[in-house]
Amino acid sequence: MNKSETLFQEAQSVIPGGVNSPVRAFSGVGGTPLFIERAEGAYIYDADGKAYIDYIGSWGPMVLGHNNAEIRNAVIQAAERGLSFGAPTEMEVNMAELVCELVPSMDMVRMVNSGTEATMSAIRLARGYTQRDKLIKFEGCYHGHADHLLVKAGSGALTLGQPNSPGVPADVVRHTLTCTYNDLDSVRQAFEQYPDDIACVIVEPVAGNMNCIPPQPGFLQGLRELCDEFGALFIIDEVMTGFRVALGGAQAYYNVTPDLTCLGKIIGGGMPVGAFGGRKEVMEALAPLGPVYQAGTLSGNPIAMAAGYACLQQLSQLGVHRTLTSLTQRLCAGLERVAEQNNISLVTNQVGAMFGLFFTEDKEVTCYADVTRCDTERFKQFFHLMLEEGIYFAPSAFEAGFMSLAHSEEDIDRTIDAARRSFAKLA
Ligand code: PMP
Repeated sequence: MNKSETLFQEAQSVIPGGVNSPVRAFSGVGGTPLFIERAEGAYIYDADGKAYIDYIGSWGPMVLGHNNAEIRNAVIQAAERGLSFGAPTEMEVNMAELVCELVPSMDMVRMVNSGTEATMSAIRLARGYTQRDKLIKFEGCYHGHADHLLVKAGSGALTLGQPNSPGVPADVVRHTLTCTYNDLDSVRQAFEQYPDDIACVIVEPVAGNMNCIPPQPGFLQGLRELCDEFGALFIIDEVMTGFRVALGGAQAYYNVTPDLTCLGKIIGGGMPVGAFGGRKEVMEALAPLGPVYQAGTLSGNPIAMAAGYACLQQLSQLGVHRTLTSLTQRLCAGLERVAEQNNISLVTNQVGAMFGLFFTEDKEVTCYADVTRCDTERFKQFFHLMLEEGIYFAPSAFEAGFMSLAHSEEDIDRTIDAARRSFAKLA
């Protein structure tokens, strides 16, 4: 047994499934998860010392690459002054100012500790502000593991929520309506059915939890208009897309203005941070100014703020997102090219530094139903062949891939070469 296998066996006796978050367990692809010892730039090193080019990037945060020197130094300096105060600090003000500058729809922002907290709090705020209970989400979109968001769609375009997990009472998801991504008619239908009851629509502006599905032209603008027509708030969940598809997030990329934005991942530079914010009038409904309660012992933690601030400052430099986009395009184009050479049907989706790979006979992949038609068996084989080659893609056919600034063109070309050999074995 290698070290990852030994550790995984040990882990399984004291940690459910051996992991602290399910997708890490390789359940979708089989085999033993890599236990990681360290990471640097585009590379991650497992407990046996093998190096991999990493396209997971801690599931999004490591957009500058691993172990970025400026973030590391900011963390070390902050740690020397104390780990947590439970009182306001200057860095929280700096951070809030920077976030509101980078994402102009946000007049005010509040820090939390995860993306889950961000969406959960934004929805509570939307419900409190509108004094309505129902919310609309989309099939295949994930917004963290708060009870009322763990909902699966039944059959049909519009369905009333059914819990997706034991432990979530049916009553709790009674107010969650599920519509079809990229299908405005399904949303209009929901609004017409409950014209005075819908507090908010929450959407992933590029869906990244059913692999990678961009919004169709007009979809996000259409949601904005429907929210205005029916007096609901529009929440864009940029936990994954924020600071990644563009400096100002997907809302900048697609030129659409939400009432509230949720952030996570990159905003913490690798530390546990989330945030939600938006229009002043709405944000002022939060405690202590307003009646909607929300709080956190470690929210705005000084180490986490130092890391996030150092990350966002570097991302703000001119040209960063152009580089990220061209690296991602190079990877996707190269993978399509070598797939075709081997008669493998592969579709790629790409927005900024986010991408998706689909083994499908379809010409394009635009919604959850398209994703479910993909060949997951072929994905599993591809995943393991690439892992052997030292390329670390997400261990699931339903996760997006992430590029970082630390990936060089040589890293990408090595990846494409590895894919050429892997496709030849698959064909
Ligand atoms: N929203 C989106 C769009 C996400 O991708 C995720 C996590 N992948 C979350 C919310 C939840 O964030 P966290 O895991 O930090 O709670």
